[in-house]
Amino acid sequence: MISVQMTSQTRPAPALYPNTLLTISRLGYPITTAPLSLSLHRNVSSSSSGSHPPKYKIHTAMFLVKSHCCYNLLNPSNTAPLAMAMCSSFCPPQVPNHFRGTTPIPSFLPKPPSFKAFSSQTATASTKDEFPACVGFLGLGIMGSPMAQNLIKSGCDVTVWNRTKSKCDPLISLGAKYKSSPEEVAASCDVTFAMLADPESAVDVACGKHGAASGIGPGKGYVDVSTVDGGTSKLIGEHIKATGALFLEAPVSGSKKPAEDGQLIFLTAGDKSLYETVAPLLDIMGKSRFFLGSVGNGAAMKLVVNMVMGSMMASFSEGLLLGEKVGLDPDVIVEVISQGAISAPMFSMKGPSMVKSLYPTAFPLKHQQKDLRLALGLAESVSQPTPIAAAANELYKVAKSHGLSDHDFSAVVEALKVKMQDPPEY
Ligand code: NAP
Repeated sequence: MISVQMTSQTRPAPALYPNTLLTISRLGYPITTAPLSLSLHRNVSSSSSGSHPPKYKIHTAMFLVKSHCCYNLLNPSNTAPLAMAMCSSFCPPQVPNHFRGTTPIPSFLPKPPSFKAFSSQTATASTKDEFPACVGFLGLGIMGSPMAQNLIKSGCDVTVWNRTKSKCDPLISLGAKYKSSPEEVAASCDVTFAMLADPESAVDVACGKHGAASGIGPGKGYVDVSTVDGGTSKLIGEHIKATGALFLEAPVSGSKKPAEDGQLIFLTAGDKSLYETVAPLLDIMGKSRFFLGSVGNGAAMKLVVNMVMGSMMASFSEGLLLGEKVGLDPDVIVEVISQGAISAPMFSMKGPSMVKSLYPTAFPLKHQQKDLRLALGLAESVSQPTPIAAAANELYKVAKSHGLSDHDFSAVVEALKVKMQDPPEY
């Protein structure tokens, strides 16, 4: 996913030259070009022909960029030039190995049997020949559009559908094909992704009239990346698998910007062979992926993450307003929080605009409330008390009742600003 290009000649091997200049790019856009404190932990081989500079194959390496980013170059156990997962200060904590797929994170996977060839190289090196499989994409909202766009830009042959057709137009102008129903998309593509709003729309698009299940069949795959509950995911999976096709649930962690930057985290579960087949596509759209076992586990992981996020945002909102009411500068509150142990990228990113009462939508508030609702249902199913999430859910419901559904979920702070009505006179 990340291509590393040597920009200075380094002989006989870069490990001996710690000031080697590397250009690191992703989806064709340079992330950084910097002298690196390069410490290659394993082997780097080189090939040289005539007067041309040597080309290096980095098999396994870890090096520190001076900007404090840590790039972890994992060995895909083949000789592909490069495949990387990028870690930075925004990296999630390490997940125990038993939660991770046995397939390594990097992108150069064995050629899947039903597809001619896959490569996870960045758009710089990819050509359409490297992505011959036809990929369908259903649902082109805030998340679906940039995800599909990254697939197109990486050279994939993409066919799109969206309930509101006009949202397909920008992608069609980038080269996507269009079909007029999920059924037709699934029938014409090898694998179809779906990024829908909620359980109802996910079921409708997969299993309803002219839904994907009507067009899909053996040798094909359906990957639902929407955030739904495990029961919904299993229902969709059953409909898809009844046709002979494979099913993977793959909700994503990450919002609008990570979707645009191809930096999502995929939480997958279901058919392992489909997971392996679509891994290069997930690596175009994301920075990491987890295979979590049977259908329902991906949904559960996503709901746990978003339950925590919803509660954090509600608590942050309370803190901002309390601080302001007792005379503290809310900008300074954001700054202090961002420097301490409770700092989170979310607070630093959303805090400054929340202080200005601006809520540009990245994650719609209605979806955050939906996720809290689904997480509470999950907790109920196993008798797990979740009083904090339950209280947060009420706050998001109040925000929705004030017409804030389509604002960013950080607009939940507005629900706390609502003045109490005057007490009734007796
Ligand atoms: P969005 O902008 O609201 O897009 C929702 C998509 O679902 C649109 O394509 C919409 O079609 C479609 N849709 C809604 N109801 C439908 C129906 N009844 N039949 C067919 N299509 C329907 O939402 P989003 O932010 O992209 O989120 C999509 C999913 O990803 C949600 O499950 C959300 O929880 C999850 N998610 C979002 C974020 C984020 O930061 N935004 C992050 C992670 C996960 P129209 O265009 O016709 O309305």
